[in-house]
Amino acid sequence: MSLYQCEHCGCCENTALGMQPKTPAEWFRWDDRFEGVAERKGKHLCSACGPKYYSDGTRTEYGEWHGQFDRVFLPMGAFRTNQEGNLEHIETGRTDYRAFAIAGEAG
Ligand SMILES: [Zn+2]
Repeated sequence: MSLYQCEHCGCCENTALGMQPKTPAEWFRWDDRFEGVAERKGKHLCSACGPKYYSDGTRTEYGEWHGQFDRVFLPMGAFRTNQEGNLEHIETGRTDYRAFAIAGEAG
Protein backbone atom coordinates (compact mmCIF):
# COMPACT_ATOMS: atom_id res chain seq x y z
CA MET A 1 0.00 0.00 0.00
CA SER A 2 1.17 3.51 -0.68
CA LEU A 3 0.18 7.12 -0.62
CA TYR A 4 -0.97 9.02 -3.67
CA GLN A 5 -2.49 12.35 -4.59
CA CYS A 6 -6.12 12.29 -5.66
CA GLU A 7 -6.30 13.58 -9.23
CA HIS A 8 -9.60 15.32 -8.63
CA CYS A 9 -9.33 17.12 -5.28
CA GLY A 10 -5.57 16.91 -4.67
CA CYS A 11 -5.75 15.35 -1.24
CA CYS A 12 -3.40 12.67 0.06
CA GLU A 13 -4.94 9.20 0.03
CA ASN A 14 -3.79 5.66 0.80
CA THR A 15 -4.25 2.87 -1.74
CA ALA A 16 -5.56 0.62 1.03
CA LEU A 17 -8.49 2.99 1.60
CA GLY A 18 -8.96 4.64 -1.77
CA MET A 19 -8.35 3.22 -5.23
CA GLN A 20 -5.56 0.98 -6.35
CA PRO A 21 -3.54 2.54 -9.17
CA LYS A 22 -4.90 1.67 -12.62
CA THR A 23 -8.24 0.49 -11.31
CA PRO A 24 -10.30 -0.14 -14.47
CA ALA A 25 -12.75 2.69 -15.05
CA GLU A 26 -15.22 0.14 -16.43
CA TRP A 27 -15.83 -1.18 -12.94
CA PHE A 28 -17.78 1.93 -12.06
CA ARG A 29 -20.72 4.04 -13.11
CA TRP A 30 -19.62 7.48 -14.34
CA ASP A 31 -22.93 8.68 -15.68
CA ASP A 32 -23.62 12.26 -14.64
CA ARG A 33 -27.10 11.25 -13.56
CA PHE A 34 -25.33 9.49 -10.72
CA GLU A 35 -23.41 12.02 -8.67
CA GLY A 36 -21.91 14.05 -11.49
CA VAL A 37 -18.69 12.12 -11.63
CA ALA A 38 -18.26 11.86 -15.40
CA GLU A 39 -15.37 14.32 -15.42
CA ARG A 40 -13.48 12.13 -12.93
CA LYS A 41 -13.53 9.00 -15.06
CA GLY A 42 -10.14 7.34 -15.36
CA LYS A 43 -8.54 9.46 -12.66
CA HIS A 44 -6.91 8.04 -9.56
CA LEU A 45 -9.37 9.21 -6.93
CA CYS A 46 -9.55 9.37 -3.17
CA SER A 47 -12.33 7.70 -1.23
CA ALA A 48 -14.33 10.93 -1.09
CA CYS A 49 -14.12 11.62 -4.84
CA GLY A 50 -14.60 8.04 -5.97
CA PRO A 51 -17.79 6.92 -7.75
CA LYS A 52 -20.55 5.73 -5.46
CA TYR A 53 -21.69 2.91 -7.70
CA TYR A 54 -20.17 -0.04 -9.46
CA SER A 55 -21.22 -0.58 -13.03
CA ASP A 56 -23.77 -3.18 -11.90
CA GLY A 57 -25.41 -0.64 -9.61
CA THR A 58 -24.13 -1.91 -6.27
CA ARG A 59 -22.79 0.64 -3.84
CA THR A 60 -19.05 1.20 -3.53
CA GLU A 61 -17.37 2.29 -0.31
CA TYR A 62 -16.56 5.62 -1.98
CA GLY A 63 -18.36 8.92 -1.92
CA GLU A 64 -17.26 10.06 1.50
CA TRP A 65 -13.95 10.38 3.28
CA HIS A 66 -13.03 7.21 5.16
CA GLY A 67 -11.98 9.05 8.32
CA GLN A 68 -9.02 6.77 9.00
CA PHE A 69 -6.71 9.78 8.91
CA ASP A 70 -7.10 13.50 8.32
CA ARG A 71 -7.79 14.57 4.76
CA VAL A 72 -4.91 16.81 3.73
CA PHE A 73 -5.36 18.85 0.58
CA LEU A 74 -2.24 19.54 -1.47
CA PRO A 75 -1.43 21.66 -4.52
CA MET A 76 -2.81 19.79 -7.50
CA GLY A 77 -0.25 17.90 -9.52
CA ALA A 78 2.66 18.82 -7.26
CA PHE A 79 3.08 15.34 -5.76
CA ARG A 80 3.87 11.84 -6.92
CA THR A 81 4.20 8.45 -5.29
CA ASN A 82 7.88 7.61 -4.88
CA GLN A 83 9.51 4.18 -4.85
CA GLU A 84 8.99 3.79 -1.12
CA GLY A 85 5.29 4.38 -1.54
CA ASN A 86 5.43 7.78 0.08
CA LEU A 87 4.05 10.99 -1.30
CA GLU A 88 6.89 13.07 -2.67
CA HIS A 89 6.85 16.75 -3.57
CA ILE A 90 8.03 16.67 -7.18
CA GLU A 91 9.89 19.96 -7.09
CA THR A 92 11.83 19.44 -3.86
CA GLY A 93 11.75 15.68 -3.26
CA ARG A 94 10.39 16.28 0.24
CA THR A 95 8.06 13.67 1.70
CA ASP A 96 6.73 15.70 4.64
CA TYR A 97 3.66 16.43 2.56
CA ARG A 98 1.70 17.92 5.46
CA ALA A 99 4.03 20.92 5.30
CA PHE A 100 2.49 21.73 1.89
CA ALA A 101 -1.12 21.45 3.00
CA ILE A 102 -3.56 23.98 1.58
CA ALA A 103 -6.95 24.90 2.90
CA GLY A 104 -10.23 23.83 1.53
CA GLU A 105 -12.28 21.30 -0.27
CA ALA A 106 -12.16 21.36 -4.05
CA GLY A 107 -15.66 20.05 -4.45
ZN1 LIG B 1 -10.27 13.37 -4.03
